[in-house]
Amino acid sequence: MIHIDESACNLCEACVEVCPMGVLDTTRGYLHLDETRCISCHICVIHCPQKALSIARR
Ligand code: SF4
Ligand code: SF4
Repeated sequence: MIHIDESACNLCEACVEVCPMGVLDTTRGYLHLDETRCISCHICVIHCPQKALSIARR
């Protein structure tokens, strides 16, 4: 599960572009993640220049 720090995110879409599942989008005006289809590969976490994404523990 991915945690999004919305205060750190500047909507650059770097994560949107690298996500292999295409489950991230900014069309709502904030970064939205479709958790039902996320495979927890964590590629988005590695690529975020703002460190706005992190691995959340359940
Ligand atoms: S963990 Fe992987 S599948 Fe899930 S949002 Fe990030 S890049 Fe996409
Ligand atoms: S890469 Fe980081 S700063 Fe850019 S849209 Fe994704 S979460 Fe926001």
